[in-house]
Amino acid sequence: MGDTLSGAERVKGFSESMIREMTRKAKKYDAINLSQGYPDYPTHESVLKKAKDSVDSQLNQYSITWGEEELREKIAGKLKDFNEVDYDAEFEITVTCGSSEAIMAAMLGLIEPKDEVLIFQPFYENYVPAVSLASGRPVFSTISEDQKIDREDVKEKVGDDTKVILVNTPHNPTGKVFTEKDIRFLRDICLDHDILAVTDEMYERMVYEGEHLSLASFEDMWDRTVSIGGFSKVYSITGWRVGYVAAPKDLMEPIRKVHDYTTVCAPTPFQHGAVEALNLPESYYENMLEYYRKARDFLYESLKKTEIEPFKPQGAYYMLANISEYGMNDKEFADRLVKEKRVAVVPGSSFYDEGGEDLVRFCFSQEMDLLEEAMSRLKV
Ligand code: GLN
Repeated sequence: MGDTLSGAERVKGFSESMIREMTRKAKKYDAINLSQGYPDYPTHESVLKKAKDSVDSQLNQYSITWGEEELREKIAGKLKDFNEVDYDAEFEITVTCGSSEAIMAAMLGLIEPKDEVLIFQPFYENYVPAVSLASGRPVFSTISEDQKIDREDVKEKVGDDTKVILVNTPHNPTGKVFTEKDIRFLRDICLDHDILAVTDEMYERMVYEGEHLSLASFEDMWDRTVSIGGFSKVYSITGWRVGYVAAPKDLMEPIRKVHDYTTVCAPTPFQHGAVEALNLPESYYENMLEYYRKARDFLYESLKKTEIEPFKPQGAYYMLANISEYGMNDKEFADRLVKEKRVAVVPGSSFYDEGGEDLVRFCFSQEMDLLEEAMSRLKV
């Protein structure tokens, strides 16, 4: 896409999100929704209560634009303890309407026309429109089926025009958990070429193999990294739209301006609910992980018994699977599956600039009985 295009022209070039389209189709055909990634378990009582109490005590007006102070302090504490990075809650943390807003604000705030953003492919659909609306150019490096990044390819693709490397770990949709070697390699690339990193760490608590590592915690990376996270998935509050962005003050300033003039603030009562979420004990995360591990293994073993060939994720709650045995492309497969078997999945090509037609993505965040029912509909 050329850099002289208007916003309207750019938008004309986008397709609607296939992830969200599949949720609409799941509703239309009364299908089990294994497409858009949202948890099926109930929101924790104490988190719900805090949000309800906030509404009842008339905390229903705008929060300050950067987010309620109490929440920013809590996020700073979480970032220190869990991610091993220090941020000043006053200037370096902003609460956003989900992490998708954080990604958009980071791109709009940091990218100049013609700047290139290296994105690992397959990718979460929202990344490319965010780069494009910011007048940047997405450049893709493919993660292999066995979940490896191609270092030589990354080296070839970065250059003088590269402004940002976007790192999503654990990765949607492959489930790759970036290793320490991967992260050190990306750190060296950023330092050697004076590149910023934007990290999407939404699934940081969902790691089955390996360990979650935050790029910002690596030597010399703090001042060139924008760290993004959110509350949606781990606390089962996707509809509340609460996420955050953390970055050094100079990088945060333009990001805050974008946030200021787009959403003004995230919903106030839900920010209070998010404070409570960060008070949950470690056992909450352990139970969640145990459930998802079971769901992952069940889905993997079940799909193995079909003509569908699944790839086992190390993290997050998605599973890519190859459907080439069926002699149809991803869109046709997903369309027939939702209409004929009433199971919704996402066509693989929605995660690729080019390719992915032999893949679909399953999300295993549903209750076990629904996963079982979905698999029985697939006749396994
Ligand atoms: N990240 C989720 C997915 O990949 C969707 C998030 C969204 O639709 N905002 O399914």
